[in-house]
Amino acid sequence: MTLRAATLSGSATDRVSAALKRAGEVEPKIHAFTQVFEERALACTSQPQSEGAGSRALAGIPIAIKDNLCLSWGKTTCASNILRNYESPYTATAVQKLIDAGAVIIGKTNLDEFAMGSSTEHSCFGPTFNPWDISRVPGGSSGGSAAAVAAGIVPLALGSDTGGSVRQPASHCGIVGVKPTYGRISRYGLVAYASSLDQIGTLTRTVEDAALALSVICGHDPLDTTSSQEPMPDLLASLDTPVDSLRLAVPRQARSDANHPEVARVFEETIATYKKLGATIVDVELPLLDHGIAAYYIVAPAEASSNLARFDGIRYGHRAKLAPGEDLFDLYCKTRSEGFGPEVQRRIMLGTHVLSSGYYDAYYNTALKVRRKIKQDFDRVFADCHAVLMPASPSPAFKVGEKTSDPLAMYLEDVYTVTINLAGLPAMSIPAGFASVEGKQLPVGVQIVSPAFDEARMLRIAQQFERATDWHARKPLI
Ligand code: GLN
Repeated sequence: MTLRAATLSGSATDRVSAALKRAGEVEPKIHAFTQVFEERALACTSQPQSEGAGSRALAGIPIAIKDNLCLSWGKTTCASNILRNYESPYTATAVQKLIDAGAVIIGKTNLDEFAMGSSTEHSCFGPTFNPWDISRVPGGSSGGSAAAVAAGIVPLALGSDTGGSVRQPASHCGIVGVKPTYGRISRYGLVAYASSLDQIGTLTRTVEDAALALSVICGHDPLDTTSSQEPMPDLLASLDTPVDSLRLAVPRQARSDANHPEVARVFEETIATYKKLGATIVDVELPLLDHGIAAYYIVAPAEASSNLARFDGIRYGHRAKLAPGEDLFDLYCKTRSEGFGPEVQRRIMLGTHVLSSGYYDAYYNTALKVRRKIKQDFDRVFADCHAVLMPASPSPAFKVGEKTSDPLAMYLEDVYTVTINLAGLPAMSIPAGFASVEGKQLPVGVQIVSPAFDEARMLRIAQQFERATDWHARKPLI
């Protein structure tokens, strides 16, 4: 059921019970959650509602949130052994806004540890599986959120997107994933991975649902100094406006030979649909697109190495037991070796290396220059076009275990998404078709990128495609 339909039907208790029942059915197969708050969620729906509560935008809607968002109950684990038992004293602003709008959190969803990954396999709780084919990954790092929505447990889940972690799992799970402009949604209470890139995003079945949810969670927050004061337009008002006056850019670099042939086919068919809808397709160059991965995998680990320094066995989370004679240095080493998984350790080492004296200019400063040039590339395209179309991911969902021993292959999953975070732009993945792979039908997403703070136009472009197709209406048989 969509968010829109849910707000119109049944009682809050019915809706929350149905979500919990569905979770009970499919969770053993997909493992989307790190925790389910069954009793608490049901208790929420039976509480006497405060005045006007029934008219709140999300009254009694069951939702799920990624387990790197702080919540003042349950655990906030980031799928890491270092925070396995961590209880947050406060709730993230975006989550609080959903609660204030009446939403009921039924659980927290699985992720790659500290949101570092593209498959939801790097979790201390084990992997999440794709509802379309449980031998495959759901994408990541917000794979638990994407799987929970795709499997029909909840109509809305929150994720976070530092380099593609909302859009790529949305693409692999056949749902809508939106990463708004950097600064649109408060990061207060989102456990930091790479602060200059991190942004909370939504996972829903439809574009309208995304617009509804974003209307609730976007906006300035004095608790996050990077949150924007830019006025928030009505995201629902322009959804029905046709796209026939729009110029949509297609970068030559997005039609790479490295794309899976089925992804390439779906992308060309999407372009053809937009042509039919009257949009003008403009071929453009984004020369720096190919350098996005290199720049991202310097900037993101650099920031991560600094952000994760606080997990030291003293201030937060897990603390290793010391043997007689061991000292403070041993405490740091043991705690962090026991607490962090291999991918997080790899990123911390990479990050500290590129920031170390002698390498700072060669790596970190060069990556920042590339980042600026990527932004300029997009500015140039937006001077003449209203939005950019790109694949969300170069391939459909891959098999569990296929890329875990090859970090570079895993990083290349993000080739079309990381540049957007480096440029701070809004982007979303929409269900655009299916790839036929080894006899299975796997969802494929296409990405729409719009100028900063123009989420309304991006959602309108997405909505017109959704109207013209029925990909979003297909559901996995699970
Ligand atoms: N897959 C990318 C990474 O591993 C992006 C992750 C994210 O957006 N959180 O860093």
